[in-house]
Amino acid sequence: MNCVKCKSKVCRTNEQCKTLSVDTVQSLEEYHKPENQQIVNAAAQLVDDGRAGTLSRLQEIIEFSKLMNYSKLGIAYCYAMENEALLVAEIIRDSGLKINTVSCTCGGLSQDKINLESEIQNVSCNPITQASQLNIDKTEFVITMGLCLGHDILFQKYIQAPNTVLIVKDRVNNHNPLNEIIKINKNERNKILRF
Ligand code: SF4
Repeated sequence: MNCVKCKSKVCRTNEQCKTLSVDTVQSLEEYHKPENQQIVNAAAQLVDDGRAGTLSRLQEIIEFSKLMNYSKLGIAYCYAMENEALLVAEIIRDSGLKINTVSCTCGGLSQDKINLESEIQNVSCNPITQASQLNIDKTEFVITMGLCLGHDILFQKYIQAPNTVLIVKDRVNNHNPLNEIIKINKNERNKILRF
């Protein structure tokens, strides 16, 4: 499957192409489960009837939470974004929702304890404990802010609640990877691999 190279794009005219090996009947059965219908409907209400482009991601998170009847949210944040996490937590609380926040440094474990190949004794990011604390807190919907690549994978592996990314970490591009991608033209794209 290589959609980006496809010339026909027949899927965009409501047709199924021959390269797809998934039985979409089974996909529909999954979509039609009540728990998935609730998410599908809430997501649709954020963008249908001309609303697409009218809400920021943070506004969408708040509205989505209300549509899903969540009352207690969690934020898993990178300690370097603590000021921003505090601001987001206050905005969410002001919207009428409860919010718990857990820093990536929770647990105070040093890097050499977590990474058996490391001798660094500085405090480590600790995504497994971060997720476990939010599980214990019974947060119904979790927002991540700036988790490092790799740590985000472990966090997503251990978090039990539905979760979404508010801020992706990209230290070079002010946490917006799209900034880099849209600037690359065809002649310059190999530059990105020279590191
Ligand atoms: S028609 Fe098939 S291959 Fe082409 S973009 Fe759609 S799904 Fe991908």
